[in-house]
Amino acid sequence: MPYNHILSPLDLGFTTLKNRILMGSMHTMLEEIPGGHERAAVFYAERARGQVGLIVTGGIAPNDEGAVGMGAAALTDDTSLDGHKLITDAVHREGGKICMQILHTGRYAYHNKLVAPSPIQSPITPFKPRELTEEDIERTISDFVRCAELAQMAGYDGVEIMGSEGYLINQFIVKKTNHRTDEWGGSYENRIRFALEIIKRTRKAVGDNFILIYRLSMIDLVEDGSTWEEVVFLAKKVEEAGATIINTGIGWHEARVPTIGTVVPRGGFAWVTKRMMGEVNIPLITTNRINMPQTADSVIADGCADMVSMARPFLADAEIVLKAMEDRADEINTCIACNQACLDHTFTMQVCSCIVNPRACHETILNFEPTEKVKKIAVVGAGPAGLAASTLCAQRGHNVDLYEASDRLGGQFNMAKVVPGKEEYGETIRYYGRQIELTGVELKLNTRATADMLIKENYDEVIIATGVHPRIPDIEGIEHEKVVTYAEVLEGKVEVGKTVAIIGAGGIGFDVAEFLTHQGELASMHVDRYMEEWGVDMQYKKGGALTRPMPAPSPRIIHLLKRSPGKHGKKLGKTTGWIHRASLAMKQVNMLSSVVYKKIDDDGIHITAHDEEKVIKVDHVVLCAGQISNKNLLEPLTDSGISVHVIGGSKEAGELDAKRAISEASYLAAKL
Ligand code: NAP
Ligand code: SF4
Repeated sequence: MPYNHILSPLDLGFTTLKNRILMGSMHTMLEEIPGGHERAAVFYAERARGQVGLIVTGGIAPNDEGAVGMGAAALTDDTSLDGHKLITDAVHREGGKICMQILHTGRYAYHNKLVAPSPIQSPITPFKPRELTEEDIERTISDFVRCAELAQMAGYDGVEIMGSEGYLINQFIVKKTNHRTDEWGGSYENRIRFALEIIKRTRKAVGDNFILIYRLSMIDLVEDGSTWEEVVFLAKKVEEAGATIINTGIGWHEARVPTIGTVVPRGGFAWVTKRMMGEVNIPLITTNRINMPQTADSVIADGCADMVSMARPFLADAEIVLKAMEDRADEINTCIACNQACLDHTFTMQVCSCIVNPRACHETILNFEPTEKVKKIAVVGAGPAGLAASTLCAQRGHNVDLYEASDRLGGQFNMAKVVPGKEEYGETIRYYGRQIELTGVELKLNTRATADMLIKENYDEVIIATGVHPRIPDIEGIEHEKVVTYAEVLEGKVEVGKTVAIIGAGGIGFDVAEFLTHQGELASMHVDRYMEEWGVDMQYKKGGALTRPMPAPSPRIIHLLKRSPGKHGKKLGKTTGWIHRASLAMKQVNMLSSVVYKKIDDDGIHITAHDEEKVIKVDHVVLCAGQISNKNLLEPLTDSGISVHVIGGSKEAGELDAKRAISEASYLAAKL
């Protein structure tokens, strides 16, 4: 059997997990919306049917103060037990096991009733927390215990106590957030008392045969975080206190080191859990950026952990484990770690989904039933929108022809995948390529579909997914030979010089800057190099394991220009924008806003910025000034009376993004 390390069962003494893959906790927002329990039940049941060893739910607060936001999910009494039972019953019917995560956010709460060990505001939330009194602490511990008891009553197989990522328990443990002078602060023994009391009292309340996972912050990645010796000491105490399994937490949310973004190498933090192997006798789970069975298997084979936690990969593909079991890893819809439809949704109070799988968390809404009337369908364009539309229509039983003018699949994803840190986008192209084979889509590469051709073929439906082309802004000298488009750069059609001005600082301007500031070996491909680049000390010489970042110097001087005022990258994803900004700052990219473009000539680009005129001497000017939709097929096809649909960038270039493109394609395919 391939992947036998992850697929072998794990005996916990009183119960056996059918394999070593854990579906890690994710807040999906289904926890909060009306009808959310019903939808969550279907969501988790699909993953259980997909053979995952154990599921952990999104975080549920033990009291209202600890909830993520005002009115967010909490389990404080028996009134919502029926809702939770829907989830546990659905998972058990599929032969799965499920634990509920108990999460107290402490000073990370997004409401003004927040509490913490000490009244110290976090850098990522707008509210200052109230300091917990000693009575509050006792009450909070009881709330954790009560919450676990309620979870047990609801039929969960266990709970995960969230002790990492900078949430309340972690805030007690680390000096910088715990300035208390009573028995809950001061010495390390005092600071870990809160965590240990929760575990001990919970174990006592729920009995021996209930899974109790403790998520332990093994590397805080903040100044004055725990030292390695302290982390090991805590792990031993956690085991003694009654935990069944220890899960790994990597970095606080306020840490300035990317820990889950697509820039992180696959399995990039497994070395942290590996340091803990042998220190305790209970199983250890490793996590972060493990998105394919190959990585999961090698992490376990390398002795990094007993189990592997994957969270977002289960949004991208409910059957990831099943496909690994059946040696069909090439059919896995891989999580590309973009955060665009999962975490970015959660942080903007929208129900989670997935860029490559819009069905995630929408299983009761979006379904691809076999068609009752087989149609002849043409899809024009094999970018993300066209690939999703064609394969889903064919999966439903339609006869689908997919036309692509170039010699390859993937459209703009071919450009994304060459950007350092975005290599995972290539996996989506691989996935759709395999889907084309499996669903029987008739692929016509090197074929530019014309309206006449499509009309002659008598299609019942034509789906236009022809994408976009770069906008050429109206600037004097725009035809100068030093002016090139982002497409020419990312497709390797030009050799870009040593000094470059980029016009436009949207997602693509940032991508191009990233591309041009790297050369040779990429940090995102090598764990050691990545840690060095972002200042993570793999020797763990001091608490928090931070050191001075050592970015590789940029091979070019880059000026990233935009007309609008204010900070660059404001519109980038909420959870990833800071990474792009930090990355370019490390490469000393010169970011200029409020720019008026005057002209481009042999001297370079002439601009005014903040009322100051200047000439930036550059070898090349790269245009990243947005896109224009390719719509030329629309009118003749509509005039001919064919049923035509336009999706993705060809529908609306302004808001072009893969999330909308794949989502539009999917909802269209579901109804044709
Ligand atoms: P974009 O985000 O719309 O940015 C293009 C920028 O070019 C505009 O913000 C505008 O900025 C500037 N611009 C527009 N017209 C111009 C003109 N006539 N002259 C000079 N400058 C002009 O578009 P994009 O960067 O091409 O990205 C396309 C889509 O892909 C976006 O939806 C983006 O979110 C997505 N994407 C996202 C990422 C990511 O999140 N990392 C990466 C790649 C792509 P000013 O007006 O300020 O100059
Ligand atoms: Fe992964 Fe992106 Fe999907 Fe989130 S939206 S699960 S990060 S592919």
